[in-house]
Amino acid sequence: MNQKAIVIGAGLGGLAASSLLASRGYNVTLFEKNSTHGGKMQELELDEFRFDTGPSLFTMPFILENLFKECGEVLSDYLTFEELEPVCRYFFQDGTVFDNFSDRNRSIENITRFAPEDAEQYAEFLDQSAKLYDQTSDAFLFNPLYSLSDLKGLKLTDFLGIDAFTTVSDVVDRNFQSEYLRKFFKRFTTYNGSSPFQAPGTLNVIPHVELNQGGYYVRGGLYRISEALYNLAGKMGVTFQFDAEIVNITVKDRRAESVQIKNGDRVDADIVVANSDATDTILNLLDQKAVSNSKRNKQKSIEPSCSGFVVFLGVNKQWEHLKHHNIYFSEDYEKEFRQIFREKTLPDDPTIYIANTSYTDSDHAPENSSNLFILVNSPYVTENQDWDQLSETYSSFLIEELERRGLDGLKESITVKDVITPKGFLNRYGSNRGSIYGTSSNSKFAAFLRPRNKFRGLNNLYLVGGSTHPGGGIPLVIQSAFNALELIERYQED
Ligand SMILES: Cc1cc2nc3c(=O)[nH]c(=O)nc-3n(C[C@H](O)[C@H](O)[C@H](O)COP(=O)(O)OP(=O)(O)OC[C@H]3O[C@@H](n4cnc5c(N)ncnc54)[C@H](O)[C@@H]3O)c2cc1C
Repeated sequence: MNQKAIVIGAGLGGLAASSLLASRGYNVTLFEKNSTHGGKMQELELDEFRFDTGPSLFTMPFILENLFKECGEVLSDYLTFEELEPVCRYFFQDGTVFDNFSDRNRSIENITRFAPEDAEQYAEFLDQSAKLYDQTSDAFLFNPLYSLSDLKGLKLTDFLGIDAFTTVSDVVDRNFQSEYLRKFFKRFTTYNGSSPFQAPGTLNVIPHVELNQGGYYVRGGLYRISEALYNLAGKMGVTFQFDAEIVNITVKDRRAESVQIKNGDRVDADIVVANSDATDTILNLLDQKAVSNSKRNKQKSIEPSCSGFVVFLGVNKQWEHLKHHNIYFSEDYEKEFRQIFREKTLPDDPTIYIANTSYTDSDHAPENSSNLFILVNSPYVTENQDWDQLSETYSSFLIEELERRGLDGLKESITVKDVITPKGFLNRYGSNRGSIYGTSSNSKFAAFLRPRNKFRGLNNLYLVGGSTHPGGGIPLVIQSAFNALELIERYQED
């Protein structure tokens, strides 16, 4: 008889793991507490406006392509993606605008206009970033890093020269003279929800991923990725139960024996794969007898990534200067991150990201209108914030701020509006304190603290998703499912 696998959560990690397991002959049932698949990747329709509510940039597509290949399918049969030009437009508060292109030379040409002193170093830094990727990806990304045998192939030289003992900011400052390029390169650390002023310099690998390998948009919106994964899982024979929150993982004889659904039903399992946030899984879902005090304390000490404050605006106006991806930088970057990560308050001079997908997909907004997804990095949930009140006051502030920074007439052209606060992310997806990228990398040890894809101490519980190794963001989350599969194949045979 086929082994029975239960997957908790239909985020990208859970969807990917369920397909991989089904393709290997497991009888897979996936339980999702919400009524839709995708977890933090959702889509929203407000009147005639359409938005992605989560990711807007797709990187390392080869990982998703590999997933489909492993299941005997071809990704391009499910969705199409493309690189946009410019990849992103950056606005600085002194009026300087930087269009970044996938063609390095075009970007350098641009940089020469406002920061000639840094133009040459741009290419040099991207080469350094590529080198970092070569040195670290096999060791830290495409490797479950679970047992001593996983470390065997690693060379000591892999750990040297990767800037692990300095910060992203220090490395960037050493390489660039202008504030423009400094802010530009520090921005990439936020892709995994961390502060460039705290995270190890190794994270300067991220520019390579977007600027050398490519940053992509999926036609129709990023939610097509979740749809593709859901369709793939269906094809592999995965059974889905939506509106089915798992409230307990029952443990017996060092095995996750069954899960209990909120309605009281209990379902037996040969293996359990949890895509629920690892902190919630370990501290709340698992029978507490299976979690030692030291594991509990370790899990509690893990710092979540930042969260996000998101405003969705349907507006009956277009702005010539707005592209698809747009970033409006703050004046004082260090202060902004101090407020987010140390003071845990919303920044009073934020860097504001706008995805304007109607620039590329005209049916995402009515004619002569725009669908603005506005994202500000924000602190994770603590006891001192009143998110219900901030939802109104901070979104109004952002609208005024964007008018000041060049979106004239924004306020009066709004026809629909919605907001998701960090508390909203916590309530919707159960992510640790509303974090949106899992755990932060704000210390040199963060990569080693992140829970591995197999729960130590139990024989058949596996963990996938952004709160687990190797981290947050679409490609890493898919990679976590590959890592879990590798461990399942390694440990379930005995
Ligand atoms: C605003 C925003 C912008 C982002 N931008 C980008 C971007 O541009 N590029 C990028 O690569 N990434 C981006 N990310 C990050 C990316 O969305 C996440 O890393 C990824 O989607 C997380 O996937 P996951 O598998 O960890 O699961 P999640 O999305 O967290 O899903 C977990 C699922 O488990 C379900 N669940 C939880 N507990 C239970 C339970 N007890 N029982 C049943 N079900 C349960 C939840 O409801 C949810 O559906 C962004 C995220 C946000 C929110």
